[in-house]
Amino acid sequence: MSTLDPADWSSLRALGHQMLDDMVDHLASLREQPVWRPMPEAVRQSFTAPLPSSGKDTEALYARFTADIQPYVTGNLHPRFMGWVHGGGNPVSMLAELLAGAMNANCGGRDHVGIAVERQVIAWAAEMLGMPAQTSGVLLTGSSMANLCAVLCAKQKALGEAGHETGVNGAKLTAYASSGVHRCVTGALDMAGFGSAALRKIPVDAEFRMDMDKLREAITADRAAGFTPFLIAATAGSVDAGAFDDLNAAADIAAAENAWFHVDGAFGALAALSPAKRHLTAGLGRADSIAFDFHKWAQVTYSCGCLLVRDPEIHNTTFAQPTSYLAAAPRGLAGGFPWPCDLGPDLSRGFSALKIWMTLSAYGTEGLARVVENSCALANRLANHVQASNRLVLLAPAALNIVCFGIEGKTDQQILDLVANLQEDGLFAPSTTIINGRTAIRCAIVNHRTTEEDIDELVAEISRRLEMPYRVPEGT
Ligand SMILES: *Cc1c(COP(=O)(O)O)cnc(C)c1O
Repeated sequence: MSTLDPADWSSLRALGHQMLDDMVDHLASLREQPVWRPMPEAVRQSFTAPLPSSGKDTEALYARFTADIQPYVTGNLHPRFMGWVHGGGNPVSMLAELLAGAMNANCGGRDHVGIAVERQVIAWAAEMLGMPAQTSGVLLTGSSMANLCAVLCAKQKALGEAGHETGVNGAKLTAYASSGVHRCVTGALDMAGFGSAALRKIPVDAEFRMDMDKLREAITADRAAGFTPFLIAATAGSVDAGAFDDLNAAADIAAAENAWFHVDGAFGALAALSPAKRHLTAGLGRADSIAFDFHKWAQVTYSCGCLLVRDPEIHNTTFAQPTSYLAAAPRGLAGGFPWPCDLGPDLSRGFSALKIWMTLSAYGTEGLARVVENSCALANRLANHVQASNRLVLLAPAALNIVCFGIEGKTDQQILDLVANLQEDGLFAPSTTIINGRTAIRCAIVNHRTTEEDIDELVAEISRRLEMPYRVPEGT
C-alpha cells in the first residue's frame, strides 16, 4: 500500500480541529504577541537537518510548528507592523486556503469551476480599477511577476510574432519609468532580454512624480539617437513615498509615441476604491496593462498578484504556446479556452482565485475601501505628529499611506539602530529607506488592524527613546 491517507481519519480530523482552533486563537490574540521575534540560532540550525527517509507522526510535526515556526514568522499580521508594504491577511482568506488545499485544483487550465472563479475575479478587478469589461487578466504570484509579464506584452506589441522566435534581436527599444520605480521593473527589462539599461529612469518632481517634461525630452533624445520607445511604465503608488505619476499625461505621451502604457499599481491601484483618494488614479483605466497585488492593500493572504491587459488578443498571443491550441477541445474537461496557462508563464498553478473571490465577497469593495481610507487617515495622523515635533522631519509628502521621516541630530546609523531596536523588542516594525540621501524611518500603513492608538504609541515610544517630549498634536 502506498496511499498517504490514514487508515483511520479520526486522529487527523482531531488534529485538524486543534489546528483551526489554535489559528483562530492566534488571530484573536495578535495584540498580545510581539510584532516580531528574532529567531534563536538553535531554531535556524534546526532547519539544516538531513532529508527525512522515514516518516514522522503528524502530532509531533504540529508541535514542532508551534514551537519553532509559528513564533518566528514575518509579523505582518500584527497591527504594529508598518515595514515595507505588507498586507495583513484576513481570516476568510485563511479559511479559503484550507478549502483550496482540500480541492487541490490545478488552475493552469481545463474546464472546471476554478477557471470560472478566476475569470470572475479578473472581471471584478477590471471593474474596480476602471478597465473595460472585456479586459483580459491572470493571477500571478505578485506584482514582480505581473510587471515582468506586462513588459512581455509590450514586447509582443513592439516585435509581433517574429519576436517569439528571434527575441529582441538587436531592436533598439527603450522603456521609461520614474526614478522612484520599483526595482522589479528594472529587473523585468533585464529578464525580458532588453537589458536594464533600456529602462530610462526619469527624474521626479518635488512630489516624487515622474517629471513629464523630462520624459518628453528623454523620448526626443532617444528617437534622435535611433531608438524606438516601446513602453512607458508609470507608477501608481511608489514604494518609497506612495507617489502617483500623472497617469493621464503618461497615457497621452504613450498614445502619441505608439508605446505600450503600463501602470505598476502594486498597492496604490487600490486607491481607486476610495472616494477620497480616487482622484490620484485618474487615467488608470486608460492603461494597456496594470500590475497590482491582492496580497497587499486588499488583505488577501500571500501570495497573489494580478495582471490586467486591455487587449485580450495581445495578452493571449504573448503567452499561448501553439501546442495548447492543438489540444483545445469543443467539449469535455479539455474545453473552455483560453486557459490561464496561455495568459502567463505558469502551466500548473494553484487555486488562489478562491481566496480572492471569498475575500471580495465577504468584505465587498466598501469594506476594502474603508481599509484604504483608514490607512491613509492614519498616515496623515503620523505625518501630523512628525510635523508638530521639532526633532522629527517629514522627508516626503505623505499623500497616501506611507510616511517617511528623519530625526534631526541623529546619524544614519543611530536611526537604523533605533528601528532595529524597535523591531527586536517586538514593539513596532517600521522599515527604513533613503530619501534624497537621508536615512528615513519608513512607515507604510497597510494593515487593516492598525488604529490611531498604534500610531500615537509609535510616536510616544520613539519620543521616549530620543528623550524628547511627546504630545498628541492639536487637531488630530
Ligand atoms: C510590492 C511592490 C512591487 C512588487 O510586488 P510583489 O508582489 O512584492 O512582487 C512592485 N511595485 C510596487 C510599487 C510595490 O509596492
